[in-house]
Amino acid sequence: REWCVALPKVELHAHLNGSVRNSTLLELAKQLGDKGIIVFEDVKDVIMKSDRSLPECFKLFDLFHILTTDHDTVTRIAKEVVEDFAAENVVYLEIRTTPKNNEAKGMTKRSYMDAVIKGLKAVEDVDVELFGSNFRTNETLSSKLLDGDTKKKKIYVRLLLSIDRRETTSAALDTVNLAMEMMDQGVIGIDLSGNPVVGEWETYLPALQHAKNLGIPVTIHCGEVANRKEIQAVLDFCPQRLGHVCCLNDVEWKKLKSLMIPVEICLTSNVMTGGAPSLELHHFADLYNAKHPLSLCTDDSGLFSTSLSNEYYLVATTFGLSKSELFQLAQDAVQFVFADDVVKKSLKEVFKHAEKRLL
Ligand code: IMP
Repeated sequence: REWCVALPKVELHAHLNGSVRNSTLLELAKQLGDKGIIVFEDVKDVIMKSDRSLPECFKLFDLFHILTTDHDTVTRIAKEVVEDFAAENVVYLEIRTTPKNNEAKGMTKRSYMDAVIKGLKAVEDVDVELFGSNFRTNETLSSKLLDGDTKKKKIYVRLLLSIDRRETTSAALDTVNLAMEMMDQGVIGIDLSGNPVVGEWETYLPALQHAKNLGIPVTIHCGEVANRKEIQAVLDFCPQRLGHVCCLNDVEWKKLKSLMIPVEICLTSNVMTGGAPSLELHHFADLYNAKHPLSLCTDDSGLFSTSLSNEYYLVATTFGLSKSELFQLAQDAVQFVFADDVVKKSLKEVFKHAEKRLL
């Protein structure tokens, strides 16, 4: 376990509001309870419950959003989430979040994202590299990352803007345009997520196509439920990455493999929500054995009480991967980041340096 914590790691699939510490959620719930907005005891039980079905997760997100959706809280959780990932030696983090309009709070999609970025800039315990070479030279950062555990930790952070499946075509287009507007501020791609039994592919397609036309990388939640028509359409769209890929049939599975689209694997999340029957029977094994491009991810580390180190540990204990195989798995994820080649090069150096220490 300690070795998995020490391993430098790349996180490509982490939802901001799913990665909030339980202690923070409880504190926020207590505040709203005191104001009479919610009943604290009811909410506390829901937050502390450990196994969750997929529909329960989405109910819970509605609750999280009540707790977290004001500018100051968004700033706070963004800061804490980065600190938590950095604390377990994540060296590159793509956080995804759904920009939210909330008239009652005077919030627009843009002001929500500004609050997120404010949180990333407020991180003190860790050096956050948000803008690539505009902010600080990557050379400087990589030499700092190479310093290992002795000094302040360093982390690259990039943002993916999520389109929620509940949104309209026009709201989805707004999100893509906002991503374009914020490309020089750490935003690097688009995600399609949300309750998989809600909404239609045709609603989001114009926005996803717009992102493609603008050259913005896209990742899509695929096959969380067995929606044959949509899985086919997602594979035909051929995004830069896919999340989950749980419910694919044999034909779709073959197509995924032939397209070689990198997959964000979320073991704990898939087992908890029923996307995979068990850890042992998780489709990770098939993709790994086929040398399909993949990367281990947490999805919602708060919601599922996991961490990226724990996901590596689970792979080691469930599938018998050796330390050098785990190291290779972590290192290979560098190829699938949406950041540019300069960042990739710097990350490769981080792994090269860590190899001497860890293997
Ligand atoms: P946010 O975008 O920062 O508010 O993070 C929470 C949101 O991420 C949820 O409301 C969902 O839209 C999305 N999300 C989190 N986990 C999952 C998942 O496993 N499948 C699909 N969507 C998810």
